[in-house]
Amino acid sequence: MPEIGLIQGRFLPLADALVPLEDRGYQFGDGVYEVIRTYQGVPFQLEAHLERLQTSAQAIQLALPYQDAEWKRMIIEGIRLAEYPECKIYIQVTRGVAPRDHAFPQNVGPSAVMTIREMLPVPLPVSTRGVNVLVIEDIRWGRCDIKCLNLLPNVLARQQARSLQAFEAVFVRDDQVTEGAISNVFMVNAGVVVTCPVGPQLLAGVTRQLVLELAKQEGISIEERVISLTEFKEAAEIFLTGTTIEILPVVKVNGAPLNSGLPGPITSTLINRFQSLVGGNRLH
Ligand code: PLP
Repeated sequence: MPEIGLIQGRFLPLADALVPLEDRGYQFGDGVYEVIRTYQGVPFQLEAHLERLQTSAQAIQLALPYQDAEWKRMIIEGIRLAEYPECKIYIQVTRGVAPRDHAFPQNVGPSAVMTIREMLPVPLPVSTRGVNVLVIEDIRWGRCDIKCLNLLPNVLARQQARSLQAFEAVFVRDDQVTEGAISNVFMVNAGVVVTCPVGPQLLAGVTRQLVLELAKQEGISIEERVISLTEFKEAAEIFLTGTTIEILPVVKVNGAPLNSGLPGPITSTLINRFQSLVGGNRLH
């Protein structure tokens, strides 16, 4: 049964899994979400994603409807039912269905939905060649560490990037690079891998954390510190990280080639390390 969605704890054909009109996710963006992917059919970094879902929910005073064990059971069932070679699992929890009123509804439980889609990787020529990014003013709110449903600035930024043949929009706030619209951002300078420290201005990416650990294991120096726009544009190497894009080399900023215009050696080392790790993904 491909194309399935979970609603009220049951998997249905996607077209039948409908959300009520007064769901607060739909009317207010009042909810949180996660995106998880599989390698060899096994959800990758599942604990970290469920932990972040919990952190996001707590930050908006939302009680999750399921414990980790139940999420895991439903995710595994969804993967089995969907029968895709690799899956992209989207989980969304909202504050539930209630007559429209901004303040929290009384005696209303949260609503959880899940979709299981085929996970299609970034096309190989794109990931091998590297991508162009568009630098854009960060107009998002002050709690970008919460993975919440209000994604309109990200939607607009990514659309603007696409219209200018850029793969991703990279946000800049007060002349400092924070993250991408769907990714975390790294640069390499003098052999040091640098990324913005976690805080309210960016999402603590699961892939970001893994890449920092892989860099350490490779003996590559890392720094978590602010990155000015000037040093970003002059970086030796830049790459993006995210669940669906893995580690993606950036070879152009605002259409201008970065150095050689080719993915850099440290980026390539980390990609190789990452690929050997996910090639061995097993249920644990
Ligand atoms: N930053 C933003 C704004 C994102 O939306 C995402 C992923 O969707 C990331 C960073 C990367 O996070 P992760 O590596 O957990 O997928």
